[in-house]
Amino acid sequence: ARDVTEQRHSQEVLIAALDKERDAVDRLRSLDQAKNEFVSTVSHELRTPVTSIVGYTEMLRDGSIVEPLPDQVPLLDSIGRNGQRLIAMINDLLMLSGLDARTVHWRHDPVDLAATLTSVEDAVRPLVGRRRLALDVRRPADAVPVLGDRAQLERVMVNLLSNAVKFTEDGGTVTLEMGVEAGEAVVRVRDTGIGIPVAEQGALFERFFRSTTAQSRQIQGTGLGLSIVSAIVSAHGGSIEVESAHLEGSVFTVRLPLADLGPSRSAGSRVVE
Ligand code: ADP
Repeated sequence: ARDVTEQRHSQEVLIAALDKERDAVDRLRSLDQAKNEFVSTVSHELRTPVTSIVGYTEMLRDGSIVEPLPDQVPLLDSIGRNGQRLIAMINDLLMLSGLDARTVHWRHDPVDLAATLTSVEDAVRPLVGRRRLALDVRRPADAVPVLGDRAQLERVMVNLLSNAVKFTEDGGTVTLEMGVEAGEAVVRVRDTGIGIPVAEQGALFERFFRSTTAQSRQIQGTGLGLSIVSAIVSAHGGSIEVESAHLEGSVFTVRLPLADLGPSRSAGSRVVE
């Protein structure tokens, strides 16, 4: 009888502990939601005045009101450039708070990743500009079919390639390859750049993370790009991993579930959960 009482007692202790745990999780979840709403509201409120600052700066810069003095031109350029960076950052924050809230309405269409490569390369090519850097976007022989939102999937590839270009010095190479491996769609972005120290790789996909190497070389960035990439990839049921050695280069590998792009597949739109 004593055993039974003890057993009942330990069950009650366990149930009480589980209840407490569940309350704590609920509290964290509602705090997280409040944080997202706050970030989203603040970002919206910031976007209007910053957009107006950038707009008026551009008008002053191109002399549509009055021709600027030569000394004023570089200052107006700098205000314009930094304003654009602020807008990009605000848009990233809005996108991330939307992703967290899981309310982003994305397309859920058949997409051949191979067919997106022209527009991906067009978006990245200007970043290379006159730099002595080889950008090699390799077209696969066959289609690489997935289901999802084409614009977001392109954004994943553009972000990874822009990072690779940004963190690779002149004389280096940036490569994108894709194909079907072991029943999955695989995209690999490889560079011969500054790499990421192994000790810092765990935090790579966290918001606002910037490696000590990137900071010490004063390479510009917000640390939001990779957290957006990783959120988009997981919303598509995929995964992303990195292999990198400090000062030797990095390889980012994205894996996505393969889709059957047969004619019976219906296209449409849904909320990505
Ligand atoms: P950002 O590029 O704006 O700083 P990201 O989230 O895209 O933000 O990247 C976060 C950090 O990860 C970068 O600041 C950099 O330290 C590191 N990183 C990302 N991609 C690479 C790369 N290809 N090579 C070296 N470091 C990288």
